[in-house]
Amino acid sequence: MELYNLKDHNEKVSFAQAVVKGIGKDQGLFFPDHIEPLANVDELLDLPLVERSQKILRHLIGDEIPELESIIADAFTFKAPIVKADENVYALELFHGPTLAFKDFGARFMARVLGSIRGDKHLTILTATSGDTGAAVAAAFYEQKGIDVVVLYPKGKISDLQEKLIATLGKNIKAVQVDGIFDECQDMVKTAFDDVEFKTTVGLNSANSINISRLLAQVSYYFEAVSQLPKEKRNNVVFSVPCGNFGNITAGLIAKALGLKARFVISCNANDTVPRYLQSGKWDPHATVATLSNAMDISRPNNWPRVEALVKMQGWSLKDFAFGSMSDAETEKTMQNLYKKTGYVLEPHAAIAYQTLENNLKEGETGIFLGTAHPAKFKADVDRILGIDLPLPQALADKAKLASQAVELPADYNTLKAYVLKELKLN
Ligand SMILES: *Cc1c(COP(=O)(O)O)cnc(C)c1O
Repeated sequence: MELYNLKDHNEKVSFAQAVVKGIGKDQGLFFPDHIEPLANVDELLDLPLVERSQKILRHLIGDEIPELESIIADAFTFKAPIVKADENVYALELFHGPTLAFKDFGARFMARVLGSIRGDKHLTILTATSGDTGAAVAAAFYEQKGIDVVVLYPKGKISDLQEKLIATLGKNIKAVQVDGIFDECQDMVKTAFDDVEFKTTVGLNSANSINISRLLAQVSYYFEAVSQLPKEKRNNVVFSVPCGNFGNITAGLIAKALGLKARFVISCNANDTVPRYLQSGKWDPHATVATLSNAMDISRPNNWPRVEALVKMQGWSLKDFAFGSMSDAETEKTMQNLYKKTGYVLEPHAAIAYQTLENNLKEGETGIFLGTAHPAKFKADVDRILGIDLPLPQALADKAKLASQAVELPADYNTLKAYVLKELKLN
């Protein structure tokens, strides 16, 4: 697979190089400049998830990564069912993995790809998290040979459950609670990546959401969703995607470029830079505001240049996208209405995707909205809004009983550096 830096077409990399580098010169994103459609989408739709994903990702990635097939079998060990939520509307539940969020798909695939291409080189993943991403990354890299993970999070500023998912693993997963805020955690990570000597010594890598491997893994579940529909409904599908950094919808659009017949709805919360842009043609990010759907609280979405590149490459138009944005009050109302109507429990991210889909669904279409996180991950809000007491899934309930193994450090780069070198026995 050939990928180019979207900011400098002269920088060309292989898939493996793009996975290791993450990002190109001038912070440019890597992306292919051509996507060859699949010849046999209908036949692929009749295969089970793992087998189908092996064929799709092999088609995209080409001969690189000889172990690709076993990596996929090892990464995709949980289901992505569609569940009827309303008339002609299904939830694609992407939250049946180890950390109960769709990020498990991308993170688990990326961890195994890195494991396969690192050779004898030791790698250290350093990541700052305000919650979900850190949990998915920690779980995905747990017990991966030759790779250590250091997750920084602001002390007392992530949920108890999120902390348990990160800090109870141990072994190669080092959880560090920082005496400070998320931005300080992120600054420490940035400083580490600028420290060339440290970077080389520990084999530093970030596993963030702009990594192309994560996007490619996510292409798989769009096909999986359509495969679960009866044949006569497969050609008239609308996906509604709750968008933050726009990685998830980029994956959906890659699936469309590969030949999946579907149109897409962009669903946002009050951080509505893209909906306003599609309306007015003006790119005008406002300050980010905090909402109930906090994984979507992003006003400068990282992956938007990839969406534009894809639209241009395929000869599509931005006018073809349906879109919408919702306030917290509308989100709560939506959760209550659907719960009353059909009993389906939405968490805030899925609620936005569901309602924007409803607002845009046409006669004869089948709607699928992406359920990006398990409602229990937002238990306090869901319980309050719906007046219920949502049980924790067993895996989460078991985690909640374990003790945190996190260390506590000040928001100071040199202290972090000394800690990492000591943990890796490199000093
Ligand atoms: C990360 C996340 C999103 C946003 O996905 P993007 O790929 O960043 O657009 C939506 N919902 C949940 C629950 C998430 O964790």
